[in-house]
Amino acid sequence: MFTCRNQSCDAKWELADVLIKNEGQGLLFRCPMCGARNYVERFDDEEGNVLYEQIDGRPFQ
Ligand SMILES: [Zn+2]
Repeated sequence: MFTCRNQSCDAKWELADVLIKNEGQGLLFRCPMCGARNYVERFDDEEGNVLYEQIDGRPFQ
């Protein structure tokens, strides 16, 4: 579950609700409600499943 980091929006999203992509500054999704950029990090679990975890701010370049 992700929470939009735009505090006036604060919408909650499942992974299936959002499109994760890389716009050149790291992986992110745009909030379907307000369009805010929300950065995520990708992990692979032991069974090879891809997981995403929301991070604060943007990834270090
Ligand atoms: Zn939002």
